[in-house]
Parts: sequence; structure tokens; C-alpha cells
Amino acid sequence: MNVYNKSPNHQITKSPNSLHLHVARWVVPVSRPPIENGAIATFEGKIVGVGPASELRPSYPAVIKDHGDSILCPALINTHSHLELSPLKWRLSPSGSFVDWVRALIEARDLIRPEEWEPAICQAIKEMQENGIIAVGDVGNLDVIPLFSSRKDATWPFRGVFFQELVCPIPNGAEEEIPEPLDILGSSFHYAFSAHAPYSVAPQVLKAIKAWDQSHGMPFPIHVAESEEEIEFLQGGQGPLRELLKEKGHWPLNYDLPKASPVRYLEILGLLDRHTVCIHCVQVDRDDISILAKTGACVCLCPRSNVFLGVGVAPVEELHASGIPLALGTDSLASNDQLSIFAEMASLSKLAPGLPPEAIFRAGTYGGAMALGISEELGCLAKGKAATFLAVESGPIGNKDVLEFLVHEGCRGLGDLVIG
Ligand SMILES: [Zn+2]
Repeated sequence: MNVYNKSPNHQITKSPNSLHLHVARWVVPVSRPPIENGAIATFEGKIVGVGPASELRPSYPAVIKDHGDSILCPALINTHSHLELSPLKWRLSPSGSFVDWVRALIEARDLIRPEEWEPAICQAIKEMQENGIIAVGDVGNLDVIPLFSSRKDATWPFRGVFFQELVCPIPNGAEEEIPEPLDILGSSFHYAFSAHAPYSVAPQVLKAIKAWDQSHGMPFPIHVAESEEEIEFLQGGQGPLRELLKEKGHWPLNYDLPKASPVRYLEILGLLDRHTVCIHCVQVDRDDISILAKTGACVCLCPRSNVFLGVGVAPVEELHASGIPLALGTDSLASNDQLSIFAEMASLSKLAPGLPPEAIFRAGTYGGAMALGISEELGCLAKGKAATFLAVESGPIGNKDVLEFLVHEGCRGLGDLVIG
């Protein structure tokens, strides 16, 4: 068993591989209700049993690790981040206009000096680790993160996927030729493509990206219905987004805009299925929610980024009530001051008080693992999954408070990332 402490030096205690039994006041598997006085049996990096300690103790003559009044739960999944934007922390302020923020972001990103990336990315990685995040769906336009994560001298701690994001409002004839993927990521950090948004990628390019991801068994993420400006533009080709495209030399377009909502547009293009991850979905109506539910598409909520940009609040209770799978993302430090899924959970709970804490915690764990296609290994505590989980000190608390505690105070009690 290795125990990675949260201390700044990340002390690591190693002992030989063998059968271990982790017992604690609570085990929250996510795939089933919380277990009081629970236990997780691990062997050679895999979970081999989860249940009440009284049942597992006789079955597993193992080395016992007693976590006391803690909650053992799955490590967190950040389904949507942009690590390459980490140097922009505190550099952009919300202006009240989404398009003004996009304009400021493009300018600020172009001014990042090469030497700024490494310290900012290292700090961002450390912050995510200290907040219990084990996997990311990271999006970037540059090669910074693939190169960084595959460096021999760097320790890349995350599973998940790097998505090379394409922005292509006007196709140039080579639209069906997705660039050659970089073959430099490790076996547990995959590479795929994402589309920026329905307003910034031409329809034939959207289809080509989805086709590439589909043929490689990868999820297809896209920012969807983030702002009112996006709705205005797709409905009638007007508003601040049209001005921005003009400024950047992407106007006029050589295709018709859909005169439909972003969600309806993606449905018409045949891009929505259970492997599509719709990021944000703030500006969605009842029809959009029906479409998302019918197609099985996942919605990745980024509540703190939405609040920062003032774009509104996603109708989370309605999305959940319709059975749409939910995941959680921090987005980047250009629209957030923290890279913490615990902070996103607490924020979501305040913004959507009707959403049960079970659903919120599921979004930050299993929902994210499903969205990124890594649920065979991560996202819940069950037989066959990776023996990597969080120990959150809670003190003695009752059954109805366990998930409330994780959602509201999980970060405060977060101790070790346990690797059994
Ligand atoms: Zn984003």
C-alpha cells in the first residue's frame, strides 16, 4: 500500500504489495448507498471487495489500515479544464459581457511568455492534486500540455484525456482532414479532439471532429449554450459574436447559420449521443433538455466559471430530473480562481438547492468518469476498480449528513489520497 499524504512534500509510505483492508466510519462507493463502518479490500492496485467491515474482516485476512472517523470515497474527476491557460490566473476580470471576455482572453493568451507556462502549470497541477482530483478532461489549442505531460522529467499525475481543441469558423477545403494527432501521451492519459463551440466551428468540421473521436472510442466535448450571445448569433447571425468573427477575419461565413438553438443544431448535425459532452448548457430551454435526454448526451456543468462570467445559471434541477448524466468541471483559471471540484460542488449546491447531494457528488466522481470514458477504472468504489480513493476526515456524523458533508466541507477534511 502506498499512502500519498497531502503534505507539501507529498510523503510516500510504501509497503510490499499484499492484501489490505481499509476500514473507516463511512465508505461512500457512489455506486451504492454509503456504508457505515465500511471497508474496502484492495490487492495489487485493484479493489477486490467493498462492504461492511464486519463482513469483510473475516473474508480478508489482510493488513488493516484504520482510517477512523473518515469517509472513504472515490477521487474526483475534473471533466473540463484548460491547464494551458493557467498563467492567466487573476489577469482577466468579468466584464459582464461574454464576448468582451473572449476578446480579452485571446489577447491575454497571445501575450503569455514561454517561461510563464511551466510554473503556472505546475502550480495548477499541485492545486488539483491537493483538492483530490485524479483525472482531467483537459482542453487546449496549443501543444503545451501534451508536451509537458509526456516529459520524462515531469511527474504527470492525472488519468483522463487531453483534447486538442479546433476553432474553425470558415472551412478551407481541408476541413475533413483533422490534424495528425500527437503520439506522445502515456497509456493512461489519452489524446483526442474537441470542437470549441457551435458558433466557432463550421458544421462540416464539427462532423469531422466527432467522426474522429467516435472512430477512436473517445468522447467528443464541445462548449454548448454558454451565453445569450451564442443563442442570438446562431438564431440570426447577429450580435457581439458576429462582431468578434468580423474582427478576426472570419466573416462572412460560407454556410447558413441554423436559426436554431445550439443543442437543436448539434442534434440536426447528428452529433449528440452518449459519448458527446456538452459543456456548460446554461442557456437551454425545455426543448433542448428533451433533446439532450433523448440522445443520452452528457452535460458538464462549470458553475463557478458561469458565475464569474455572469452568463447565468444552468437549469440543473431540470437537467437532473430529465435523467441527463451530469459531470463537473472547473474550466480554466481565466474564468475561475480555484481548480477544485469540491468548490464546484459547494457552489452547485447553493445555485441548485433542489439538487440532492448524492447527485452533486456523483457528478464530481462517476459522472466525470463516464463522460471521459474512464469509468471502468475510476469514479466509484467497486470490485475491479482502481484502488485509489480519498480519505476525508469528518468526525462522527450520521447517515443523512455524509454526502452533505462531502459536498459542503469535503475539501476541509481532505487528507490522503490512498493508493491501496
Ligand atoms: Zn472551457
